Amino acid sequence: MAIFVISGPGGAGKGTIVDQLCRADPDLWLSRSWTTRARRPSEDPYSYRFTDRSTFEAHIEADGFLEWVEFLGNYYGTPLPTPPEGADVLFEIELQGAESVKQRFPESVLIFVEPPSRNAQEARLRSRGDVEETIQKRLRKAEGEEVLGHEIADHIVVNDDLERAVAEVAGIVSLYRG
Ligand code: 5GP
Repeated sequence: MAIFVISGPGGAGKGTIVDQLCRADPDLWLSRSWTTRARRPSEDPYSYRFTDRSTFEAHIEADGFLEWVEFLGNYYGTPLPTPPEGADVLFEIELQGAESVKQRFPESVLIFVEPPSRNAQEARLRSRGDVEETIQKRLRKAEGEEVLGHEIADHIVVNDDLERAVAEVAGIVSLYRG
């Protein structure tokens, strides 16, 4: 079983890449995170397990997470994975969580997805309907994430063209399959 971690700043398009990748590859099992963030109107209700802070904290206490972080004021956590037999595992999480997964499973493969430019990233953040304050926080956070991402990632993929980027990530996945 291979473990892939896809990380990258908000607005890099990693969610779209992951959706397409999983649709084309039934042997990839995508972990579904928990979050205390409010669901965006445009968002699939199953994209996360949306929960409140006290339920999340109770799950921390119960050792129910592989890793969890507080990111821009909300909790996000990866529940202990339960992939079907024979599947490879995919986590789409921010960098601090990616580092924790790497520490726990050193053989896991960290793929860092970047936007082609700050302007393109900003346009993507705006198009999904986040409020201005959140957009600005995410853009500021991206600067540090990119520095650390370049240090710790096994692969860096620039999402300049969606189809090309999906094909590049699919190529990386096939490199690590037995
Ligand atoms: P968003 O609010 O845009 O859905 O997610 C914010 C950030 O949290 C993104 O970088 C996303 O990949 C990350 N994230 C989502 N789920 C998890 C998780 O379970 N753990 C960690 N560490 N980060 C997560």
